[in-house]
Amino acid sequence: MAFDIDALRARPGKKVDLSSIDPKSTPEWDYKDDGEDKERAQALLPELNERLESLQELLYAQGKERLLVVIQAMDAGGKDGTVRHVFEGVNPTGVEVASFKRPTDEELAHDYLWRVHKHVPADGQIVIFNRSHYEDVLVVRVAEIVEEKRWKRRFEHIVNFEQMLADEGTTIIKIFLHISKDEQKERLQDRLDRPEKNWKFETGDLGPRSQWDDYMKAFEDVLEQTSTDDAPWYIVPANRKWYRNVAVSEIVIQTLEGLDMSFPPPEDGLDQIVIPD
Ligand code: ATP
Ligand code: MG
Repeated sequence: MAFDIDALRARPGKKVDLSSIDPKSTPEWDYKDDGEDKERAQALLPELNERLESLQELLYAQGKERLLVVIQAMDAGGKDGTVRHVFEGVNPTGVEVASFKRPTDEELAHDYLWRVHKHVPADGQIVIFNRSHYEDVLVVRVAEIVEEKRWKRRFEHIVNFEQMLADEGTTIIKIFLHISKDEQKERLQDRLDRPEKNWKFETGDLGPRSQWDDYMKAFEDVLEQTSTDDAPWYIVPANRKWYRNVAVSEIVIQTLEGLDMSFPPPEDGLDQIVIPD
């Protein structure tokens, strides 16, 4: 079955209504609803992991392409779990995860792209952004950290910044993990109930939860205004973790397959070489 990642792509400039996209849905997955979908997806994941592993090796060996994967979601939206499952088995050399937390004093003393630009991928590298410069038009907007006039201008900066990266040879994929408010409640409750998950619970996460609708509106604007041909957003329904892992794997794999990659030519005369005893 071919999984058409295009079905999840946000069209440039097209309005997005997140309330019309069911976070439990499984677009492009051949959903049989026979109680075995989860098992089938979980059985498929190791195959996808292997394909990604080979593609990453090729990217690294060739040393020409750069891949940036941006992941955004509400709290407990599954950013960490996605990175863990999708990139399982990939050689950590050549893959970096950059997590963007509340900015430090030093970061705040610079423009908002300063801390981000430092982490973009080099030749042969994959970098995953766990949160990103999009926080500067999401939490910063909803929590009114800067005035409206200032964050509104940022959409244009961001589009231009990403276009510059793309023009200079970086392939960009942006993923929005779409969970429901009910699903977030369950996951936050789980962090309270399980001692080994307590460390993940932050009372501060309840603030954004209480402003859920404002965040959805902010995400809709991001998806509408910053999805471009060279830096597309993919909206991944993410209540079902098994679907999310398959969908994100497919997006990353198919994007890498679309690049013109080959192993560097071997040195001349390798077939004549005898390894000395
Ligand atoms: P988890 O989902 O596991 O809790 P996390 O990504 O939420 O991981 P945390 O350290 O809990 O990581 O939270 C990071 C916090 O930093 C988030 O609340 C996020 O909104 C905030 N943040 C990130 N960038 C900015 C920014 N530019 N301005 C203000 N807050 C920011
Ligand atoms: Mg958190």
